Amino acid sequence: MPVHKSDALKKYFGYDSFRPQQAEIIDNVMADKDCLVLMPTGGGKSICFQIPAILRPGLTVVISPLIALMKDQVEALKGNGIPAAFLNSTLSATEADQIMWQAKLGELKLLYIAPERLFSGNTFDFLRSWNVGLFAIDESHCISSWGHDFRPEYRQLNALKKHFPNIPIIALTATADRVTRRDILKQLGIEHAETFVASFDRPNLNLTVSPGRKRIEQIRRFISKHENKAGIIYCLSRKGTETVATSLKNAGFKAEYYHAGMGAEQRSKVQEQFLKDDIQIIVATIAFGMGIDKSNVRWIIHYNLPSNVESFYQEIGRAGRDGSPADTVLFYSYMDIITRQDMINQTEQPEIQKEVLHAKLNRMKQYAEADICRRRILLSYFNEAVDQDCGNCDVCRNPRTRFDATIIAQKALSGIARTDQKVAMGMLIDILRGSRNRNILQHGYDRLPTFGVGADLRAEEWAEYIIQLLNSGVIDIAYDEAHAFKLNPVSRQVLKGERSVELVKFIPLSERKAKEELI
Ligand code: ADP
Ligand code: ZN
Repeated sequence: MPVHKSDALKKYFGYDSFRPQQAEIIDNVMADKDCLVLMPTGGGKSICFQIPAILRPGLTVVISPLIALMKDQVEALKGNGIPAAFLNSTLSATEADQIMWQAKLGELKLLYIAPERLFSGNTFDFLRSWNVGLFAIDESHCISSWGHDFRPEYRQLNALKKHFPNIPIIALTATADRVTRRDILKQLGIEHAETFVASFDRPNLNLTVSPGRKRIEQIRRFISKHENKAGIIYCLSRKGTETVATSLKNAGFKAEYYHAGMGAEQRSKVQEQFLKDDIQIIVATIAFGMGIDKSNVRWIIHYNLPSNVESFYQEIGRAGRDGSPADTVLFYSYMDIITRQDMINQTEQPEIQKEVLHAKLNRMKQYAEADICRRRILLSYFNEAVDQDCGNCDVCRNPRTRFDATIIAQKALSGIARTDQKVAMGMLIDILRGSRNRNILQHGYDRLPTFGVGADLRAEEWAEYIIQLLNSGVIDIAYDEAHAFKLNPVSRQVLKGERSVELVKFIPLSERKAKEELI
């Protein structure tokens, strides 16, 4: 048995050196101290508890909610000569019994347990007779209702410190903002634990936000510039994944969909094919990707806006794990925000919880609408100080210029005023641009003085400016009246010329620099 962490790293994992923070974290655990580890997906969290598990006396109990992954992880450990096992609902009673015996006899170094299993039957009582030397809590953000993946069964883990006050706990997560971190420590009863934060920066990931128009067309163009390169398209709904996959297949691409509504067999088949590069593109809901270790995913597209920055960061983090350049694209339109807001409002959650979700969504919206370096926004979300623009996001490549848009704002506002504040985006743009379609004629909107006053701007320009006006509070929107635009006191000041408006200049896709041409 090696006595030093570097020997263990070489002997069991075949690596010559630790990544940043790993050695410090291991030293901390070896000194019997509790800690919280934040490292991005693929950052190398496992070694932080696996090496102490090898070097320390006794058994390391690993709590993980990802039943599907336990088997792989345990196989990998065994393959490296480390005695390990897992306990979850996939085992028969006999198999489980056998593993409990092994644990009792001290034949295991690591035991992975799903939290619901730990607190069912008398497993928890057995822990006392197992000579446990360390608890590792993976995906520890699941314990916090401030996190984005709260699991009630994780709450019971507060029993660990109470019953085993002298056994150190190492909590790990790839995704927790400051509030969630504090809550993790509190829930686990390890408030004084040191928190280690590895850098979340993934400079090889190109970040781009693209207007959510003609998404399929944009995707096709994008993929044809990423010939045979593996990628994932994330959609909001199961139905969405099927529609997008079908249209890509019809266009001749090797694409399949993946969502939790499919049978387990079909799902693992698709996953296998993707891992083996038999399928180029997976169109999936968020059900896809947890623990998928494919290093050569070259691009990620978000077809719809994710519900929060943590999820978004985890999902784009599945690209470029080999360190080579990878492209990520987020499609964004203001309808995506509305859909997400409606989803939150419709959930049956306590009001306070809804507020958290809305606040998180709002941060996502800020990212999508940013006119400063997007990576700065992402990293500052994870409380990482950045003192330079990244040069590898669409904002850095196309710095935004602001201009006096008071007249543009007045045109839009008077369009809203003259239609009695009853029109929504599509109709307002048609009025401004003077489109004589049936709907317009039916309402007699072609006779309005505002009809056609904005014909000099393209529809997508108007859409972008109107969104900016919404975001800066110059226009209101009534979600409960078919998203009709409303005037507010600021609108009236602008209309009367008492207040000026600045907007960020629109740059057509075709004129955006470099990487954007990919889309
Ligand atoms: P996480 O759990 O943080 O998502 P893993 O622990 O699965 O990440 O590690 C991701 C990959 O990085 C694994 O293939 C792992 O073997 C590798 N890895 C971890 N630490 C090192 C290291 N010090 N040197 C080289 N590779 C490492
Ligand atoms: Zn940037």
